Amino acid sequence: MDIIHLLPDSVANQIAAGEVIQRPASCLKELVENSLDAGAKRVQVIVRDAGRTLLQVIDDGVGMSEMDARLAFERHATSKIREAQDLFSLRTMGFRGEALASICAVAQVEMTTRRAEDETGTLIEIHGSDVVRQEPCVCPVGTNIKVSNLFFNVPVRRKFLKTDQTELRNLLTEFYHIVLVYPKVAFTFVHNDEIILELPAGTEKQRIEAVFGNPKRNVYTSAFVDVNTETELVSIRGFVIKPENATRKAEQYFFVNGRYMRHPYFLKAIQTAYSGMLSADYQPSFFIYFTIAPEAIDVNIHPTKTEIKFADEQAIFQILMAAVREALGKFTLAPQIDFDTQGNIDIPLPKDTPVSRPQVTVDPTYNPFHTRGAIYPDRAPKNWESLYEGFSQPLSDPITPNTQITQNTQIPLSDSAPIWQYKSKYIFVQTENGLLLINQHRAHIAILYAQLLEQLTHAQGAMQQLLFPEVLSLQADEMILAAQLLPDLQAIGFDLEQLSPDSYSIQGIPAQLANQSPLPVLQHILQQVRERGADTQAEWREQIALSLAENAAIPYGRSLTEAEMRDLVKGLMALPQYRHTPDGKTIVSLLTDEEIAKRF
Ligand code: ADP
Ligand code: MG
Repeated sequence: MDIIHLLPDSVANQIAAGEVIQRPASCLKELVENSLDAGAKRVQVIVRDAGRTLLQVIDDGVGMSEMDARLAFERHATSKIREAQDLFSLRTMGFRGEALASICAVAQVEMTTRRAEDETGTLIEIHGSDVVRQEPCVCPVGTNIKVSNLFFNVPVRRKFLKTDQTELRNLLTEFYHIVLVYPKVAFTFVHNDEIILELPAGTEKQRIEAVFGNPKRNVYTSAFVDVNTETELVSIRGFVIKPENATRKAEQYFFVNGRYMRHPYFLKAIQTAYSGMLSADYQPSFFIYFTIAPEAIDVNIHPTKTEIKFADEQAIFQILMAAVREALGKFTLAPQIDFDTQGNIDIPLPKDTPVSRPQVTVDPTYNPFHTRGAIYPDRAPKNWESLYEGFSQPLSDPITPNTQITQNTQIPLSDSAPIWQYKSKYIFVQTENGLLLINQHRAHIAILYAQLLEQLTHAQGAMQQLLFPEVLSLQADEMILAAQLLPDLQAIGFDLEQLSPDSYSIQGIPAQLANQSPLPVLQHILQQVRERGADTQAEWREQIALSLAENAAIPYGRSLTEAEMRDLVKGLMALPQYRHTPDGKTIVSLLTDEEIAKRF
């Protein structure tokens, strides 16, 4: 029986219009989702040139009849919904019936497909929506679809594609979103004849391990605890990282009814559950799977379908936060409970339970000023009066209303102005107009950032050889990113050499990082570049410089000598941008004399 039918226009119009295929990754997503909707147990993805020349998906799903093979490429042809009402009770990944139509409009598509009940299969070839060939063929049960020369007839689209490395990363990101919800389906991903991922069928944990960890050693998922909660509204399952294993580089995944989603509000719920357990720049990794009645969510608000609206977000926020807290509480209290022979123990929430933090070793004798001399010695102004010419625009800090520094405000300041450190975190300097408050860590970030960016541009980074080389192991997508950043990482002073298909050895590090462990720093860089979507060299250089500066800057809690404080302030004021860090955080604030007087 043929199973595909055309959607009435009224339904078609209810489906949000939107460009379905923006890049190879969106094409791959649609093809793989079709295979899964077709009940495939094994899906092979074959890619050439990051999808520009070839994107092929082979599945062992139900296949299509001869008639369906032709109809599948019509717009709004779908076997998945019949009426508008069906939109609210979706259980398949696809439903719009526009993916194949969109793909064949912008590529050369060749498909072979066969159902188990048919003796012969069908081959169909379509170039830019024109069927150029359709004939019976011999092929296995399932569907094999080959999309060649994507955007061959849309040069503008082709031009907007990013570098191969970026597009390949996008492909893998999209692929991760899918494979993490289908652990029982085996997947392979081959790029330019190289097997990038080989994922056997297994449990959710095994799948996570196979993608992010080491499938043989099972070490990644043992860093997680289970989350499990059933309520009438929603069921929440998954894994959240033990606080002590958190890093700066987090993997954060939400899925709802078998679909990846982004959800900044629910992310807040998880972060809240961890509050007090992680140091400032650490992020919790998690894989959270929601199951909810399809009527209670709207998957249709966003054309690429990663933002999903829930009917009852506040309630789910609370349930999620409580579930994560409970999971973390069980984990942190586990040793005490083991000694208790009583059965029913009330497990208190871990709110005030101190949790061991990741060990960060800080060398208290390390003094950035002595090892490197004065910051910007030749740029530092001779006397402090000229430092404040920089105050040409008002400070724009929405939180502190005490910043009426206007266009012409001059803040005279002398070399002998009283200066002191407050709580090992802020530097206070007396000026004629008031008290200047400076955040020491951020000030140093801004100084180092400017310095590093300059070194990066001129490939003049100073390197310090490591006594014991370290090994940086990376996931497939990170390897691609690392290869892309490699020349710049070397320019700034990293001595890196590829060891194996998934690791680098680190033999030297930028001099600014002396005495620091290079692994977290490199991971931080990769994370930042990935998260902030730095696609051009200029963008990722900024991320590299910022990341290094954040790692190398004087931390809070370090007491400074008077000379160091003056050096720091001088270095800061010599910068063209000294009021904010490159990522927009406030560095300086002025408490004016009037404001001080008003308090009395
Ligand atoms: P949708 O997935 O939204 O229904 P598509 O354009 O992606 O729309 O696919 C159209 C139809 O083609 C699907 O409803 C399905 O019946 C059929 N189809 C597409 N890919 C496959 C596949 N790999 N195996 C079996 N049937 C498929
Ligand atoms: Mg589809």
